[in-house]
Parts: sequence; C-alpha cells; structure tokens
Amino acid sequence: MKANCWMGRNTVEVQEVPDPTILNAHDAVVRVTSTAICGSDLHLYDGYIPTMKKGDILGHEFMGEVVEVGPEVRKLRVGDRVVVPFPIACGACGACEHGMYSVCENSNPNAGMAEKLMGHSPAGIFGYSHMLGGYPGGQAEYARVPFADVGPIKIEDDLPDEQVLFLSDILPTGWMGAEMCDIKPGDVIAVWGAGPVGQFAIASAFLMGAERVISIDRFPYRLQKAERAGAETLDYEKVDVLDALRDMTAGRGPDACIDAVGMEAHHPAGVAHAYDRARQATRMETDRPHALREAIMSCRNGGIVSVIGVYGGLIDKFPMGSLMNRSLTMRSGQCHVQRYLKPLLGRIRNGDIDPSFVISHRMRLQDAPRAYEMFKNKQDECNKIVLTP
Ligand code: NAD
Ligand code: ZN
Ligand code: ZN
Repeated sequence: MKANCWMGRNTVEVQEVPDPTILNAHDAVVRVTSTAICGSDLHLYDGYIPTMKKGDILGHEFMGEVVEVGPEVRKLRVGDRVVVPFPIACGACGACEHGMYSVCENSNPNAGMAEKLMGHSPAGIFGYSHMLGGYPGGQAEYARVPFADVGPIKIEDDLPDEQVLFLSDILPTGWMGAEMCDIKPGDVIAVWGAGPVGQFAIASAFLMGAERVISIDRFPYRLQKAERAGAETLDYEKVDVLDALRDMTAGRGPDACIDAVGMEAHHPAGVAHAYDRARQATRMETDRPHALREAIMSCRNGGIVSVIGVYGGLIDKFPMGSLMNRSLTMRSGQCHVQRYLKPLLGRIRNGDIDPSFVISHRMRLQDAPRAYEMFKNKQDECNKIVLTP
C-alpha cells in the first residue's frame, strides 16, 4: 500500500510499504477513506518529538471502512464505516475505567521509553513516535487498529466523511479544552491559537455558555474564522496581549485561558523568543512555551488555564509564582477522545456543529509532502487539509 512516511526533519515521502495485517485477536484493519494533517504532526515534522525513525508511517486522524477483523472482535464487522480515535486504549485498565483513555496503561508497548522522559507512560498514539508505541499511522491506504471494540465509532447514517472525520481528534480536543474551563454563565474565555483546534475550542466554549470568547493569533484569515464563530480577536503582533486582555475584562483578566498553540509557539520578537529558540535548537529546552506563559500571566486570579496545545518535554522560565500566588488551576491532557465520540456525533447529527467548516484544502495522499509544507507555513490560507488515498 501507499503511506506517508517520516523521513527526517522537514521531510515526508509517500512510499510503497507492506499492507497491515491482524497481529492481535482484537485488531481490525481499516481501509482509509479520509485522513487529515494535525498541528501535532508538525511537531514530528519539525523534529521536536524524540524517538521517530526514518520510514515511520504518520497520521492519527483517520476514518474508513473495516476490511478485516480479528477473531475476538465483537462489535465491528467487515464493511462497517468507522472513525478511529487517535489515542489507543484497552478499555479495561484503571485509567480507561475512569474515562482517561489517553493515559491507558496497556496500549504503549514502549512504555519504558516514555517513563524515562515523563516518569510514567501515557497511552500509545497512532503514528506518533516510538516512545508512544511505534504504531503505524493512518496517512495511508490501510491501518491496523488495535482494541477495535473500544476505540472506533460506527457511522451508521449518511453523514459525509468531512463532517465526522474530526471526531478522531480535533473536535473532541477543542471540546475538552473548553470543558476543562468549567464554564459558567457570564464567563470570558481567551483562546491562544486560532488553528483548527483553537476554532473548535471557541465553538465549544460558546456551546457551553461562555458569554465572550477572545481569540489570539496573528493570521488574519484564521482570526476571521474565529470572528465568524462569534469571538473577539487579538493580533498578538499588533497589541500587547496581557494589556489588551486586561483592558477587555475591566482589569481582571479572562476567567479561563486555553492554550491551543503548544510547543512551537511563535513570538513576534524579543529576548524571550531568542532565548527559547536558542535553547530549543540546542535541545537544552525541548519546547517554546511563549503562549503558555502568556496564558498563565493573563488569567484572572483563581481562574483556570486549560492546556490542549501539545508539549513534548521540558520548558524554561515557567511563571510558577504567578500560578501559585494567584490560586490558578492548570488542567491538561491529550484528549480522551473515546469519552466524547457519542455525544459529539449526536451534536453533529442534530446540527449544533458542522465540523467541516475548518477544512481549507482537499488533496490526495500522494500530495502529502506538499500538503505538509503548506500547512506548516500557512500558505494559501491553509487551515486544515484532508487527504484522500
Ligand atoms: P495549527 O498549527 O494549525 O495552529 C496553531 C496556531 O497557533 C497557529 O494559527 C499559530 O499562528 C498560532 N500561534 C503560534 N504562536 C502563537 C502565540 N504566541 N500566540 C497565539 N497564537 C499563536 O495547529 P492545530 O492543529 O490547531 O493544533 C494546535 C495545537 O493543539 C498543537 O500544539 C497540537 O499539537 C495540539 N493538539 C493537541 C491535542 C490534544 O489531544 N491535546 C490534539 C490535537 C492537537
Ligand atoms: Zn491531531
Ligand atoms: Zn486502558
């Protein structure tokens, strides 16, 4: 089959690789009909997530048709149409029983590698480094799906791929980012990053009853999408974000702040950015946490900082004093996607949300190298790319 493979920093190639097969009685094999590129893929592409190997198949947002099931699979049959969540979860361990699927204790065969960096291991993730399981991803014609009775959700009506594909990751992620803010009527929520994840966080915050949402980014076309969703916007290249947010909230700061940027935050200029870039380039610091620092500093006293942007390792100059002295709460996590599949599919069905609004480009799987460059550099007003094999 054809698959999009990581070949080194800033290089992907569509290669001919062996078809996946059933390795475990609980596996299914899915023929991929749609797959997407995520901001999380950029962290791999840019070379900031350790333990990638040349030839690894990328992709963790995909859906398709079941073409083979292992002998122990009970809920899926050949021919079923499914969306597959990006975290791989067993459904039976302590974490899964508590709905914490992205920290499943059984799905990362390379847990020891993750423990060295993080103390304990999170779940395995499709196409996301050897430290997180070494699972081949879904930017391919076929993918093997472990624990097939636990993760995939069947799509039994005629909703097109484009409306349900993002259940695999970014819609639940944006939703969880807003949910972690404990939104109450009258709340003001600020969201750093107006990419697809930020856009779904904005939409979710409004659905949960936020009175105002303020979106922060620098790309006008992305801020326009946020505006269309009802958000007020700030271009961080034009204003000082901390000051602007104070002004917009009678001096108190937003009730909750969502980081939908992650480890490759951009900074207009200045000493802090030069410091982070140099530290990250020499791997003294693995992540550039500019948006996170700003989210903490901006949040009102006693507020919540919800971190859905992905971080890989260690950060410097973390404003712990601000967090501690001002009684802030910080919440985070890779999304526990399995928890949100049914309720969010329901909201798509009843018209609360049509997730396809984030799509800006539709391309073929074989164009993945060009698609990665476009998405990375935000060329041609690129917002979200769907690839079809
Ligand atoms: P994206 O690259 O499309 O969007 C990121 C946006 O952040 C861009 O529009 C960029 O201009 C903006 N940005 C950069 N620096 C900024 C700053 N200092 N202040 C404000 N905005 C800034 O990516 P995406 O697909 O929207 O993903 C966003 C983040 O969410 C990534 O870190 C990704 O890894 C993460 N993510 C997390 C989960 C999860 O489960 N927690 C799931 C999916 C994606
Ligand atoms: Zn993703
Ligand atoms: Zn589990």
